[in-house]
Amino acid sequence: METKITFLGTGSATPTAKRNHTGIYLQSGKENILIDCGEGIQRQFRKAKLNPGKLTRILITHWHGDHTLGIVGLLETLAMAEYSKTLKIYGPKGTKEKIKLFETIYGNFKINLEVYEVSGKFIDEKEFFIESSKMVHGIPSNAYSFVIKDKVRLNKAKIKKLKIPNSPLLGKLQNGKDITYLGKKIKSKDISYVQKGKKISVILDTLMNENAVKIAKDSEVVICEASFLSDEKEKIKEYKHLTAKQAATIAKKSKSKKLYLVHISQRHEKNEKEILADAKQVFKDTTIPNDLDKIKF
Ligand SMILES: [Zn+2]
Ligand SMILES: [Zn+2]
Repeated sequence: METKITFLGTGSATPTAKRNHTGIYLQSGKENILIDCGEGIQRQFRKAKLNPGKLTRILITHWHGDHTLGIVGLLETLAMAEYSKTLKIYGPKGTKEKIKLFETIYGNFKINLEVYEVSGKFIDEKEFFIESSKMVHGIPSNAYSFVIKDKVRLNKAKIKKLKIPNSPLLGKLQNGKDITYLGKKIKSKDISYVQKGKKISVILDTLMNENAVKIAKDSEVVICEASFLSDEKEKIKEYKHLTAKQAATIAKKSKSKKLYLVHISQRHEKNEKEILADAKQVFKDTTIPNDLDKIKF
């Protein structure tokens, strides 16, 4: 299952010409998931040549404006475009109340909406699951992991050699069951292999905490906020954010493979190299993506 991430918005509290408010779009199999929905997200979809009509779920990390001000406009556009699926919105405690409040102001959104307040593992499908973990940001906040499960695959060359026809027998072998074919016993484990799953973790606004390391454990990709530099320690206490070095520490401690730093402040836009250097002291494979950058894996 190919997985693609598009960074729709990588900015912080104030959007700039270069960086939009937060939005991360994850496409994997039939799932099209938006993580946070900052102001300006609709135009970012357009620029990235993505169709928001394909959205299946929205995950909200927390209800600060820079992560959620795009929701009303997006839902109204989906209604105008006759979005016919059921859009599922997930977030921390208080999410239902926020959506209701928007409906009080703007009228009911004319699409099928389901809203969930989540903690722990809250989606468990055949091919993937999604879990959340509480962060520390002064208001209810979640980090999320999207986990593609390990999959048993059959070795095509061996199937061909044994001349096993395309039949329910293959399904049995894939499900780990041994079969008998033309009088010969064939063991599932002899002709199958495990394709390892993948994990993507998204950790946005938070103070450093152990839950962040836990939820990121063994990720292929960690997307993490880096609002401050290490020499701005006083500010992280006041605003409850991470430094780039702390983001790198999460990636390192969780034994993850790649780190992408987002939520880049306008104050650092001219010295992004410093952010990168702050993180790279601890974790080498660190990148600061630009808006509309895509990664595939
Ligand atoms: Zn933020
Ligand atoms: Zn915030």
